[in-house]
Amino acid sequence: MNNILDLNLEELQQWMEKQGEKKFRAKQVFDWIYNGVFKFEEMRNLSSTVKVKLSEEFYVDIPEVVEAYKSKVDDTVKMLLKYRDGNIIESVVMKYKHGNTICVSSQVGCRMGCKFCASTLNGCVRNLTGGEILSQVIVGGRLIGERISNVVIMGSGEPLDNYDNVLKFFELVNWEHGLNIGQRHITISTCGIVPKIYDLANKKFQVTLAISLHSPWDEERKKIMPIANKYSIVDIIEACKYYINITGRRITFEYALINNINDRNEDAEQLIKLLKGMLCHVNLIPMNEVKESALKKSSTSSIRTFKERLESAGIETTIRRELGADINAACGQLRKSYMDSRNI
Ligand code: SAH
Repeated sequence: MNNILDLNLEELQQWMEKQGEKKFRAKQVFDWIYNGVFKFEEMRNLSSTVKVKLSEEFYVDIPEVVEAYKSKVDDTVKMLLKYRDGNIIESVVMKYKHGNTICVSSQVGCRMGCKFCASTLNGCVRNLTGGEILSQVIVGGRLIGERISNVVIMGSGEPLDNYDNVLKFFELVNWEHGLNIGQRHITISTCGIVPKIYDLANKKFQVTLAISLHSPWDEERKKIMPIANKYSIVDIIEACKYYINITGRRITFEYALINNINDRNEDAEQLIKLLKGMLCHVNLIPMNEVKESALKKSSTSSIRTFKERLESAGIETTIRRELGADINAACGQLRKSYMDSRNI
């Protein structure tokens, strides 16, 4: 049995033809799905033979919303979603002036081991498929009853550690008769798996690349991000310059400000040296404290000072709004507390 959401139109058309059915049946099936009908037996314009064949071969894995929390301070909605196999992941829908954005997970858990991140505390259970990432967007849109126009792959998991499935997701979410979300409305965030950054650049997509840098020093970065033992900051910057050259896209550097770890003046100065002249911008993230970690967030004033330093050096800098601060909206926190409370 396969998840039909992992197939694109052409693949389902081929399947139909193999069954001796007309190609156009495939589009009919997807039309139902995108109109909220997820059971083959309810797809009224299909013959009963096709419906039986479909249900023998496929299921539609639309994850169940186990819990949904709406923030009281903004319109952020955080969802815990359960797939058919029982695995639980989280996605967050955020409302911005320019449209609704969903933050999707790319893996169940994560194996990157970043010290400040709750997603990685129990390791990686498995990759999500393209269809499973897609279904988060479908469910998110249904939950808020509005179109989702932007996707950030910044939930649990390392997307470049699940490269092929993420590429398939780009294709599926882009389908004009489906969700129709173009590459320019997608951001992929990575802790810096350098060879995959080159691979992605060579695809010449228009997706925005975000790099979780979090420190301008290799030695410091190694202490908070194990991946830094494998790839140096210089390697990452080289790869980013390649990405910019090939795609023309501006890169985002994410930088979670951690008290006394990466928020000092010398950190800002070194960051400026690294990024000066690059087509990029820095997104400062006030760190979300995770109870399993001793790391503390920077004070509001040091965040402001850090931002001012970067800006006075000509580096465009934003501070990420703390959306859904009241609903555990940081990476993996909600799933972790759900699993802990049930001893899963
Ligand atoms: N694995 C990918 C994407 C997931 S995390 C990556 O590393 O980029 C999305 C962003 O949130 C990353 O920049 C990550 O480092 C950051 N993040 C994780 N836990 C955080 C926390 N507790 N506080 C602030 N940012 C956090």
